[in-house]
Amino acid sequence: MTLTPTTPMAPGAHKFPQVTGIRWFNVAILVLTPLIAVYGLAFVPLVTKTTVFACGYYLFSMLGKITAGYHRLWSHRSYNACLPLQIFLMLGGISSVQGSCYFWARAHRSHHRWTDTEKDPYDSSRGLFWTHLGWIIFKTKLRSGPVDSSDLGTDPLVQWTHYNYFPLAAVFGYALPALIPALWNDLWGGFCFSGALRLTIAHHCTFAINSLAHYLGSTPYDDRLSPRDHLLSAILTMGEGYHNFHHQFPMDYRNAYLWYQYDPTKWFIAVCKLLGLASNLRVFPSNEIAKGALTMQLRHLKKVQDSIIWPREVEQLPIVTWDNFQEESKLRPLILVCVVLSRRRLPMDFCRCRVLFTTFQHSWTSIQVERRA
Ligand SMILES: [Zn+2]
Ligand SMILES: [Zn+2]
Repeated sequence: MTLTPTTPMAPGAHKFPQVTGIRWFNVAILVLTPLIAVYGLAFVPLVTKTTVFACGYYLFSMLGKITAGYHRLWSHRSYNACLPLQIFLMLGGISSVQGSCYFWARAHRSHHRWTDTEKDPYDSSRGLFWTHLGWIIFKTKLRSGPVDSSDLGTDPLVQWTHYNYFPLAAVFGYALPALIPALWNDLWGGFCFSGALRLTIAHHCTFAINSLAHYLGSTPYDDRLSPRDHLLSAILTMGEGYHNFHHQFPMDYRNAYLWYQYDPTKWFIAVCKLLGLASNLRVFPSNEIAKGALTMQLRHLKKVQDSIIWPREVEQLPIVTWDNFQEESKLRPLILVCVVLSRRRLPMDFCRCRVLFTTFQHSWTSIQVERRA
């Protein structure tokens, strides 16, 4: 089937792609890492220092990967970062062991450019399993749609980490989180908790952006595509769960536009700006955002309007004779409110009235009553 490039498929039109092979390396990472985490939870005692370190290292990975680093800085260029902050975020991203920044940002740009089409690498119409894991572990003949990634191709940090990704991932993903707790004699705790358990949670929270955030929640800015806003997705992903807003305004450094919405990454970037580490934070004009929200509210009101049965036009109302009206009024109390219409539109010998017709207990009904002039 040939697709118009920017036209999303109808819901359910795609099916799970034909698999041509398995990416065994990715499968090994995604199976062995949780197994090590489970082994640690079952057999390795939790040390307080290691637990605190694992939580801090988790924040480091999440900020670098899906939130402030790979996503908002390199995929969307939603702010500028000084070199030390870039290095901090890049290493955090690599520590999450989900591919190089160059690979990830290009795929993510393709996802935005070709959302919900066959060129979207995590097209939501292929199902939750595909968007969460399938696109990572299966080989297919599908190819992501083209995007402009020339800035990534000339970024020395992005390119250097791309070509040295595997040793860097081994060091920052597994070795360092184990070796640092070894300083207080908890090598195994570090390997299992700040290494494997942190990675397992970070993996699936990140994957939830492609899966859950396209299924769960509301569409306050646009309902033509699948991205959705939901607090649960935001909590899992450090603020990335306002995905409907994000797809509409992708270069905004905020994912949560409203002040009460949970987006710690937005606050992190704002603090970096205060410290002089980040600059040129991009925001969409509030007026344009309000337009998007109002458009959706009007669309919703139109649906409500269309679901209500409204009185018909005067000319379409049934005609009740005066005699019938008098007969009817013997059976139930009636109020007659008469509005005389223009005589120009009426037969010579009739006066047509618009009547609001009620029985006190029931809602108003409109009819026409005719009587001799
Ligand atoms: Zn998305
Ligand atoms: Zn994005």
